[in-house]
Amino acid sequence: MISTVMPTYARANLAFERGEGAYLWSTDGKKYLDFGSGVAVTALGHCHPRLVKALQEQAAKVWHTSNMYRVPGQEIVSRKLVDSTFADTVFFCNSGAEAMECSIKMARKYHYDGGDHDRYRIICAIGGFHGRTLATIAAGGQEKHLKGFAPVVEGFDHVPYGNLNALRDAIGPNTAAIMVEPIQGEGGIVPGDPDYLRRLRQTADEFGILLIFDEVQTGMGRTGSLFAHQRLGVAPDIMGAAKGLGGGFPVGACLATEKAARGMTAGAHGSTFGGNPLAMAVADTVLDVMTEEGFLDRVSSISNILRQGLERVCAPYPKIIAEIRGVGLMIGLKCVTPNTELIEKLRDRGLLTVGAGDNVVRLLPPLIITESEVNHALAILSETLAEVAA
Ligand SMILES: *Cc1c(COP(=O)(O)O)cnc(C)c1O
Repeated sequence: MISTVMPTYARANLAFERGEGAYLWSTDGKKYLDFGSGVAVTALGHCHPRLVKALQEQAAKVWHTSNMYRVPGQEIVSRKLVDSTFADTVFFCNSGAEAMECSIKMARKYHYDGGDHDRYRIICAIGGFHGRTLATIAAGGQEKHLKGFAPVVEGFDHVPYGNLNALRDAIGPNTAAIMVEPIQGEGGIVPGDPDYLRRLRQTADEFGILLIFDEVQTGMGRTGSLFAHQRLGVAPDIMGAAKGLGGGFPVGACLATEKAARGMTAGAHGSTFGGNPLAMAVADTVLDVMTEEGFLDRVSSISNILRQGLERVCAPYPKIIAEIRGVGLMIGLKCVTPNTELIEKLRDRGLLTVGAGDNVVRLLPPLIITESEVNHALAILSETLAEVAA
């Protein structure tokens, strides 16, 4: 008989009842070091005291009023996002997929309102991931996500990630935008070459098309800057954010320049829950914590310590770990042996990680991770690698 929870996930038989900082406690009383952060979501760790306070205080005031009215929290959070990014304006939604849907709709509407009704196609990268709605699975282009859900939403072309010539060749009279992740996350932690990402900007300008970055996973401090592209001196026209933005409270955002958002007038797009007062109270506090003096510098320095430790711990096991890659606290261990085996063995020893494409184990610890927690994780990894090797 089908489970009452629709069985769309291959879940581990493990449940948690409490979390604090980088640790989770399972219902059977075991303590786990969380290097998955619920897939880059709990960026400030579990139950960060300031997030708990912000949510509790807002919960006692008002939860939801709808976007028929002004929502003061949206005005505050959008101001903070605009002040710390390329963007002039923000649409609030509830997830990463919705942030990318908004990005796609905005790119089409931009050209439509400019009188160019035939520019609707978006060039995406092979190995990309943008969510699980009909349009975002079409954008991702992965057979395993598309199979059985035909007809595929029209208007997405796919080129190899990192190949500028292939991308330029794919641009035609119907092209509206380029849409990529600065570092492919689900695809297996594949960092985009900084030069490639900069040239995407030049290419978009040359052809009069828009550049969309999907920073749903790379954003919110994960790579040591608020958004990954900010380290590269390149800015998109449109960007999706979600995951870490609410620190565990569901919220997404689509950021854009004034020009790119020219078609997003009253009635063009909407969401019942998007940017509700609870989500905004938490996102506001997440942004406050992350933009405090020294916070992002600390992410960079602790990520260097983790990275060096990983190089040291993995070096003796080239038959298990082929490569360590990524930026900041978004690290992938490219495995030779099945990544699932390593993930299970790490979990048995109390370290939570996340799988990714290309046989990769993802390490996505909370940004507040300490050196002793890093050392704890490295010790577990070292023991586990020894076990796998034996
Ligand atoms: C997780 C993710 C999404 C989808 O986010 P959901 O909140 O699951 O809809 C989109 N793009 C990227 C890069 C992601 O990592």
